[in-house]
Amino acid sequence: MKRGAKMTECIFCKIIEGTIPSVKIYEDEHVYAFLDVMPVTKGHVLLIPKTHRENIYEFSEEEAARLFAAAPKIANALKEEFDPAGMNLLNNTGEFAGQSVFHFHLHFIPRYDDTDGFQPGWLPKTSEFPSERLTELGHAIRVQLES
Ligand code: 5GP
Ligand code: ZN
Repeated sequence: MKRGAKMTECIFCKIIEGTIPSVKIYEDEHVYAFLDVMPVTKGHVLLIPKTHRENIYEFSEEEAARLFAAAPKIANALKEEFDPAGMNLLNNTGEFAGQSVFHFHLHFIPRYDDTDGFQPGWLPKTSEFPSERLTELGHAIRVQLES
């Protein structure tokens, strides 16, 4: 869904509007947090901006700051309540990366043990990215940031 799309077309906008029910965790002027309806673990929360943004690319710096301002509060509440062994915060951007709802959301997934159902993990390719290659890549990204 594109920026400015009608709110009623988006399931998370409907949750913010209250036309689809949700278990609310936190709300302020800019953000809304609620329990994932298909939680991976106990306390799996989604934090979303109230303004429809499909993904991270669409955020202004101010919007990003407002969203992340709520993150420590939510993480600490989950930590206090459930005493997890750890927590994964993640966002899937784009269908290829696993995004299934196209209104930005940050997952908070409290972790309990090896069998809790969450399987993070990637295979580092250290031989493909020696330090010279990392230096080149870092330069290329900095050029983008400065352009
Ligand atoms: P994604 O795959 O886009 O990173 O995550 C979307 C998440 O939204 C999924 O974990 C899914 O369970 C959750 N979800 C989808 N529809 C609803 C809904 O109607 N209510 C709630 N609370 N969560 C939803
Ligand atoms: Zn939306």
